[in-house]
Amino acid sequence: MFCYQCEQTAKGQGCDKLGVCGKTPETAALQDLLLYVVKGLSQVAQAAREAGITDRETNVFTVQAVFSTLTNVNFDAGRFPGLIDRCVALREKLKAALAAKGVAKTFDKAAELIPARDLAALAAQGETVGVKALADPDADIQSLKETVAYGVKGVAAYADHAQILGQEDDAVYAEVHRLLAATLRRDLSLGDWVTLALDCGRVNLKAMELLDAANTGTYGHPVPTEVPLGHRKGKAILVSGHDLRDLEAILKQTEGKGIFVYTHGEMLPCHGYPKLKAYKHFHGHYGTAWQNQQKEFAAFPGAILMTTNCIQKPGAYLPNIFTTGLVGWPGASHVKNGDFGPVIARALELPGFSEDQDKGSVMVGFGRNAVLGVAPAVIDAVKAGKIRRFFLVAGCDGAKPGRNYYTEFVEKVPADCVVLTLACGKFRFFDQKLGDIGGIPRLLDIGQCNDAYSAIQIAVALAGAFNCGVNDLPLSLVLSWYEQKAVAILLTLLALGIRDIRLGPSLPAFITPNVLKFLVDNYNIKPITTPDEDLKAILG
Ligand code: SF4
Repeated sequence: MFCYQCEQTAKGQGCDKLGVCGKTPETAALQDLLLYVVKGLSQVAQAAREAGITDRETNVFTVQAVFSTLTNVNFDAGRFPGLIDRCVALREKLKAALAAKGVAKTFDKAAELIPARDLAALAAQGETVGVKALADPDADIQSLKETVAYGVKGVAAYADHAQILGQEDDAVYAEVHRLLAATLRRDLSLGDWVTLALDCGRVNLKAMELLDAANTGTYGHPVPTEVPLGHRKGKAILVSGHDLRDLEAILKQTEGKGIFVYTHGEMLPCHGYPKLKAYKHFHGHYGTAWQNQQKEFAAFPGAILMTTNCIQKPGAYLPNIFTTGLVGWPGASHVKNGDFGPVIARALELPGFSEDQDKGSVMVGFGRNAVLGVAPAVIDAVKAGKIRRFFLVAGCDGAKPGRNYYTEFVEKVPADCVVLTLACGKFRFFDQKLGDIGGIPRLLDIGQCNDAYSAIQIAVALAGAFNCGVNDLPLSLVLSWYEQKAVAILLTLLALGIRDIRLGPSLPAFITPNVLKFLVDNYNIKPITTPDEDLKAILG
């Protein structure tokens, strides 16, 4: 196996024996094979689209299959043969539709592959189409090609979340197919790959816009909401991942059953959505970010549902954890079709919390609607010199000790500055009491990583109000990355021309020195250094 798609990759270079995430060589090979046949499917889908044929089943399958290969989604090798077979069936259906229209096309080997019939043989096939096996001889082209592939994984995640709530746009699917098909090509220049990477950023903005419309259209715009960090005496279900519809289903199905529902990790911002917070038994938030789940889940006295990434190897709590949707872990019970009866039954078997406990609270719900609702006060505070600068300290959390940078950075941000945050990186400082500036909280939680669109809209609106570009705002972006959704967001920021981003805790292993130089020269991207040095450089 060889995988270097995430920040925790072994030795900062690549996982080649076992994934640091727990991905086995067998699952890695099956994921490589799935991605390869999806690239082939994409080439056929692109040709079909050009001939006026679009197939929604293919579109939705494409984003689901690609999302399945994102870090910490599906570790269950047994789920991949079915996905590979379905991919090939959809591919052949589209080829037949093309033939029926009299369109004759020659496709890449990826679009002709016949999958083997058993798991070991499939894994062997996967080993022949992995990152290293198909690497471009030009290291910089390879770097950008993988950047595009990983960016598309992020786009697929957002597009899948959006379609679950009924928001789709064929232009997004078309672009996903075009970009995936491009990764099979050997005739593109470095400049072409830069263009494709920025195209990936642009389509990601569209996918995030769809997701924003899906979430706010279904559950209302988030409103500032105080979320307890403690618990109530009684039976309990913990919902982790990112999926709002699964949470809603759990809330509906547990009504009147004496069970309190808690969020974990990236589900925290769900407490701000009017139609979710309306459930009386939707109590509070438990724990912190994904990388702490093994300790936190082991101590949770109820059932646990993992709706999307990021699952880790379950310990003794394996009988208590359930997966749904695209998530998989071998041996963990998988819930299908939104019927969470087994999760509820397990929660009722388990002891639950024996007493009420107050552990304080945090505020969520500062999405674009809430923040822009107080824009005049924010603008006045900036003009009056009461707010000197905004810092968007956002992105993923992870296990590396270097991530303490973000805690220290926020602690050291001067009292006349406001911190905006989103995604699970916030758990490094989410419970700090930073106070307010004239009634404007100094720590504003915009939401999940899936809400990066909201942050972009806030920045664009502020730039409009100040009659300047986003790069001219008193705003600094201090970002942390871990997996491929962060790659997609970074490409979106670059496509929007955003400069001066500070990125940590380490730079992606798949970025070559030449590609990094390009990013520095054109976008002034910088790796984080120390909080003191970076704050000094920003504030002078
Ligand atoms: S997803 Fe990350 S940790 Fe897992 S195998 Fe790939 S690079 Fe390694």
